[in-house]
Amino acid sequence: MIEQICEFPISASCAVEHSEALPPKADVVIVGGGIIGITTAYYLAKAGLKPVVLEKGRVAGEQSARNWGWIRQQGRDLAELPIMIEANQLWKEIAQELDEDIGLTHCGVTYFSSQEAEISRYEDWLKDAVPMGVDSKLLSSRALSDMIPGMSRLYSAALHTASDMKAEPFAAVPAIARAAKRRGAVILENCAARVLDRAGGRVAGVVTERGLIETKEVIVAGGAWSSLFLRNEGVDIPQLSVSATVAATKTLPLIHDGAAAGGKLAFRRRQDGGYTIAASGSHEIFVGWDALRHFVRYLPQLRHTPFARTYRPWGLRGFPDGWATSRRWNGATESPFEKIRVLNPKPNFGRVNDIRLAFETLFPALGKVEISFSWAGMIDTMPDIIPVVDKAPLEGLSICTGMSGHGFGIGPAFGRIMADLVTGAEVGHDLTRFRFSRFSDGSKLRLGLGL
Ligand SMILES: Cc1cc2nc3c(=O)[nH]c(=O)nc-3n(C[C@H](O)[C@H](O)[C@H](O)COP(=O)(O)OP(=O)(O)OC[C@H]3O[C@@H](n4cnc5c(N)ncnc54)[C@H](O)[C@@H]3O)c2cc1C
Repeated sequence: MIEQICEFPISASCAVEHSEALPPKADVVIVGGGIIGITTAYYLAKAGLKPVVLEKGRVAGEQSARNWGWIRQQGRDLAELPIMIEANQLWKEIAQELDEDIGLTHCGVTYFSSQEAEISRYEDWLKDAVPMGVDSKLLSSRALSDMIPGMSRLYSAALHTASDMKAEPFAAVPAIARAAKRRGAVILENCAARVLDRAGGRVAGVVTERGLIETKEVIVAGGAWSSLFLRNEGVDIPQLSVSATVAATKTLPLIHDGAAAGGKLAFRRRQDGGYTIAASGSHEIFVGWDALRHFVRYLPQLRHTPFARTYRPWGLRGFPDGWATSRRWNGATESPFEKIRVLNPKPNFGRVNDIRLAFETLFPALGKVEISFSWAGMIDTMPDIIPVVDKAPLEGLSICTGMSGHGFGIGPAFGRIMADLVTGAEVGHDLTRFRFSRFSDGSKLRLGLGL
């Protein structure tokens, strides 16, 4: 078994890049320096405001650099699709402004299958999605073999979206952070937000580990930590996190330049000539208090994909839902966010081996595939696999979190939307599906497509 772990490219031991002095005031304070927080800051700064991003560890140290790098419209929930179509355009605009290469390429995303039920899900989605403006289509078995030659078995059909893209996650968000900074955003690494400061029943600032920043608008974009932060403020969202393992192969001959998934395998060609490979739809959940508290809410998801997750009864120490993680703190004492600067779960090495074998079996011409390193990321998820993008029931507090495993691609559009939401501009999309109150307003939970 391969037990090879290199230090993940963005870790708590990397040098701090953003270390400005804590400003006393900000137009908007954003909690979290992932794709959501950074693109929100980028658009706020572009609109001439002074946003401050608080990042407890390193920009993109968590999910936003640990993902597969797929920027896909394909398979999106229909409420997300118009936002994702916008995100595709925004990625291109942002990439043009950057002075560094983030590997943004139109590569196409392909799902292949031989299971009738799955293929009919592709067809159902196409019926609704194509009129909304995506170029997705169903490919025959033959067309799939032409597009991805060398597969050891024939699949009956594939869902393919040629305009879908990929980017290099290790590079993309740090590069956008530098662009946001050039436009006037302040980004502070190693600076956790502890609690909100309030006055007159509304947000008046954020107490950080370095002191207070006064502001009238706070956006929580803390990824897997959002619900922990919010609950301490009396705002409850049923968010949980699952760990997903990923591996990077060494350089290999070109088999397919795009991103594709079929059976239990997902792969994407990286800019360095290797492949990012992973087990699609398979996660580990470390059970803690929140998992128990929200169990009933997650039942529809558990029934829909009963075999997608492995349960671990020992919550990881210090992790957002760890058994011993503090649930209550105040601005004067160390918060859980300072205890783990960068959430870095251990990859499941058994799974790395399985993925590698599945990849070799699917593409026998590759011979022995060597792994250069593997990692894991904690994916934050919601019971319906749909993010929360809304104002919270506390004046001055907004939430953009629960990206449920697909926030990298859609990130720039939600960043743009959050910038408009807090400045009172027209957001341009119907956000009803993403409302905060959907878990408490008596409405029936409707599972996102998760295709
Ligand atoms: C293995 C894996 C594969 C994935 N593949 C894809 C994919 O191919 N395509 C796709 O679209 N999506 C994918 N995703 C999902 C995507 O990466 C996430 O949805 C997205 O990155 C979430 O961004 P975020 O900004 O909400 O959270 P994060 O990137 O997790 O950022 C949140 C940040 O907030 C900081 N923070 C939290 N609390 C505080 C606090 N109190 N004070 C200061 N800072 C704080 C954290 O340190 C963290 O850096 C994948 C995720 C994983 C893990």
